[in-house]
Amino acid sequence: MQLPSKVLDEAIEAFAQLPGIGRKSALRMVLHLLKTSPERVEQFGEVLIRLRKELRYCQNCHNISGEALCSICSDQKRDASLVCVVEDIRDVMAIENTLQYKGHYHVLGGLISPMDGIGPSQLNIDSLCEKTGRGEVAEVIAALSTTMEGDTTLFYLYKKLKPFDVKMSTLARGVAIGGALEYADEVTLGRSIINRVPYDNHLVK
Ligand SMILES: [Zn+2]
Repeated sequence: MQLPSKVLDEAIEAFAQLPGIGRKSALRMVLHLLKTSPERVEQFGEVLIRLRKELRYCQNCHNISGEALCSICSDQKRDASLVCVVEDIRDVMAIENTLQYKGHYHVLGGLISPMDGIGPSQLNIDSLCEKTGRGEVAEVIAALSTTMEGDTTLFYLYKKLKPFDVKMSTLARGVAIGGALEYADEVTLGRSIINRVPYDNHLVK
């Protein structure tokens, strides 16, 4: 693509870094912004800067938060001894939308995937073990995708948490095998978390 301006090229390059956006889509966005009023574009830029500056991760559960503790962890009405382990923040949103769950979360920040070079040390697993080791957790509900990466991570967590004698359960299989959690409908996901099953049941003894 031959471009008439270096700034235009840089803008396209910046948008094309976003997931799922190729250079063609990036060009369409940039041309749209050029037709937008300078005030609106400035607002847009400010939102992006504030997003990165002001948001951080909850020090307890690694959910996105504006404060040291997220709104879920600082809610006294929620049960802190019940911890639902999820792959990422989109899963917290999906489960919250079911309105069925009143415990805490723990966001791993990914799944173990040797193919992609992601090992346990890159995920928020140590903090979960520490929390469990301090006796703060009575039950861990693993709400991970039923993919190979999800199952590998689940088994790893099971081994890591076993010494702490904590109850560990997984979602009832209303969630399709091979399915990503965020695509499950709210009713199915809500029922799956209520009818969760002990993880031991899945293991071949
Ligand atoms: Zn939190």
